[in-house]
Amino acid sequence: MYFDSVEAMDRADLEALQARRLRDTLAIARQSPFYKERLAGFDAESIRTPADITSLPFTTKDDLRSQYPCGMLARPLEDFVRLHASSGTTGTPTAVFYTQKDLETWADLMARSMYACGCRRSDVLQNMSGYGLFTGGLGIHYGSERLGMLTIPAGAGNTRRQIKLIRDFNVTVMHIIPSFALYFAQKVREEGFDTADMPWRIALIGAEPHTEEARRKIEEMMHIKAYNSYGLSEMNGPGVAFECLHQTGMHLWEDAYIAEIINPETGEHVAEGEIGELVMTTLTRKGMPIIRYRTRDLTRFIPGQCACGRTHRRIDRIAGRADDMIILKGVNIYPMQIEQCLMAMPEVGQNYLIELVTEGVSDQMKVKVEIKNEYFVEDMRSLQGLQKRIAKNLCNEILLTPRVELVQHDTIPKAEGKAVRVIDNRNKD
Ligand code: AMP
Ligand code: ZN
Repeated sequence: MYFDSVEAMDRADLEALQARRLRDTLAIARQSPFYKERLAGFDAESIRTPADITSLPFTTKDDLRSQYPCGMLARPLEDFVRLHASSGTTGTPTAVFYTQKDLETWADLMARSMYACGCRRSDVLQNMSGYGLFTGGLGIHYGSERLGMLTIPAGAGNTRRQIKLIRDFNVTVMHIIPSFALYFAQKVREEGFDTADMPWRIALIGAEPHTEEARRKIEEMMHIKAYNSYGLSEMNGPGVAFECLHQTGMHLWEDAYIAEIINPETGEHVAEGEIGELVMTTLTRKGMPIIRYRTRDLTRFIPGQCACGRTHRRIDRIAGRADDMIILKGVNIYPMQIEQCLMAMPEVGQNYLIELVTEGVSDQMKVKVEIKNEYFVEDMRSLQGLQKRIAKNLCNEILLTPRVELVQHDTIPKAEGKAVRVIDNRNKD
């Protein structure tokens, strides 16, 4: 029923395991130049329960950047066999190093995650995310092999070749970035195939924020079940939290991580079930442990038990990143609020783009929205009506009326990796 019996471990035992692993982790971390200094004077033996973690300091993205390239390593460089880096587009990247043992633990977590949403060794997985420094390539790849699936490292892009591989090798599981999935579904149809006739049954979607509406759209367009997959390079990559067959939030693997949700302003824990910033500590990493990492990702613990019997707590889909928030005319807006609104409208196609501009003395939001072909042939008046309706729905959600521009499908440039949803062209002075 489970890939690993630890998934349904009794909570008291799980917490005892966490405390033990946290003490071990602290001992390893102290071997790194960074934590040697940061944890000086801290008595690891004072950790009796996972809750005692609050006596430790946070680690931020800036800390990791300041230690680039090797300041976080707790072992000599020759003990490492792999390096990945986060996808950050600005500034110094954060490098993450893995020992052989770390890679094995990661592959196990990944295999467990895929098993939880119904993947089995008889399945054929096509990995449609980019390989390279991005962890969605090799991370998913080795997990899939670990589970025993035939694994096709297709990489990103090249829609025709993707379709050919899927049909020729009866691909049943796809790993695909959600923004690309919507685009891909449309392309499959344009190539003359019926998505209902494709061999696939499961899509693993993750790596970028997306709404429940976008997931449903992917499921409908592709005739597939789509499961949310969460991870970040600093915590290995994918395989941190994953949906099970019930699709009611992502089980966060608590034998491998301690997760906390804090108020990003105060650093204090929020009340159970409230939304805040996810903070994570590695419990099984041998080469480069990270303690109380501020992910900037906003989510909440879902109260209660999951019907699947797994005891590891679930987190809700990521509502956005603390640093993604747009402040326009004093109003706080998250791009996911806009996506939610757009994807709920049947006329809206696969892609959208938010642009912030300065006009005269004030800042404005423009939202470009791709419209499905069948609606574009309609007369001008109904298009104008649609434009107004979208603007009104958005205003109900974000309390500002953006300027809506309707465009034909496939006209907004498509990123190969994670989608770019917001372009900020405001005057900064
Ligand atoms: P990277 O380390 O470059 O792979 O980026 C990790 C970041 O991608 C996370 O911190 C999240 O912001 C985002 N991310 C990954 N998986 C998901 C997901 N399932 N839903 C929303 N955002 C995600
Ligand atoms: Zn479950």
